[in-house]
Amino acid sequence: MEDIEDGRECSDWPELQRAVEGVRLGVAQPPSVWQRLVKKIFPLSAPHPERQKYHGGIYILIYHSVVDPDNRQYWEKFYKKGEVTAQQFRCQLEYMLAHMTPIALSQAPELLAQNRVDRPYFAITFDDGFSNNLTVADPIIQKYNLKPTVFVNGAFVRQEEVFYRVLSAIIIKNGHAPQLADRLRQLIGQHDWSDDSEELFIQMKQHYTADAMEQATAEIYNQYIGDPAQLKAHLDIDELKTLQNHGWEIANHTDAHRLLSCQKNEDAIKAIEVNGKFLQDNGIYSSDFLGFPVGRSQDVDQNIGDWLDRNPNIHGIFANNGVNTRLCRKEWLRFSLGQHISYGSLDKIIRNQIERTQKAV
Ligand SMILES: [Zn+2]
Repeated sequence: MEDIEDGRECSDWPELQRAVEGVRLGVAQPPSVWQRLVKKIFPLSAPHPERQKYHGGIYILIYHSVVDPDNRQYWEKFYKKGEVTAQQFRCQLEYMLAHMTPIALSQAPELLAQNRVDRPYFAITFDDGFSNNLTVADPIIQKYNLKPTVFVNGAFVRQEEVFYRVLSAIIIKNGHAPQLADRLRQLIGQHDWSDDSEELFIQMKQHYTADAMEQATAEIYNQYIGDPAQLKAHLDIDELKTLQNHGWEIANHTDAHRLLSCQKNEDAIKAIEVNGKFLQDNGIYSSDFLGFPVGRSQDVDQNIGDWLDRNPNIHGIFANNGVNTRLCRKEWLRFSLGQHISYGSLDKIIRNQIERTQKAV
């Protein structure tokens, strides 16, 4: 791992993300009597009773959908995976601001390269370009004067496709799991697709097959529910420009969110490059980060590592735990605070992340 420091390639890529995923930590303890008492005495909006000190590093938070629970859009009533409410989002940002220095993701490489990470910094990121990033998250972001990054997919921005997890959640919860399972059996016969809605939803992630999942969900949605584009689930190009004008950074999440390691080499590279060109051609100033769809170590392969070697100005970013304490250009790490809002839980998650990273390194 000696060559990580200067940002050149690490051997056996993605070594760091894989190691972070492999670390086993103890089970989280419930809050102590003292922690519960503190929480009772100090309501959430009050100044923090105990200021935690965190290890120097760059803590990158990952978000997806941010909802207003009193005003859910149609798709937000069905697809709740990875979401936070506006209130949870606000609490988490306040916690981070009370303990760390906010930066834009684009500032992170230089800070690490110059070895200036003597204190904790944090950056906010969003994946998949959900429309509520503008309607719900942005007003909160503005209030705290933050500069987040949103990782977007051109096919979603053009409203040609809607993330298949959103479509399958709506299909299944409207009682069409058997029809979806049938179509999957036709397209990908080798799996035993279940007619049970919850089981099928899990199976589709476990046995993800690029293009077939997207094709089956789009077809069944069109046949039984309507036009996916009507959902307005994703930000369009004008909305992206609005965010950009508000100080958001826009970055590449591939053209249509197919898992990179599930595609033929040339298709995976095309998915990255076509999206970069789309953003550029449409007047979007794209940041130097490439967010790998889903973002576990298994979702990339050597083909993508080699592409990053050929594109030394691009940073690769994962989404499956870890904190950045030194520069590894091809392996930036992110983690989620889930839906937690109590100081005790947030503190625990952040400490787990640093512990996990230290063990992995
Ligand atoms: Zn994504």
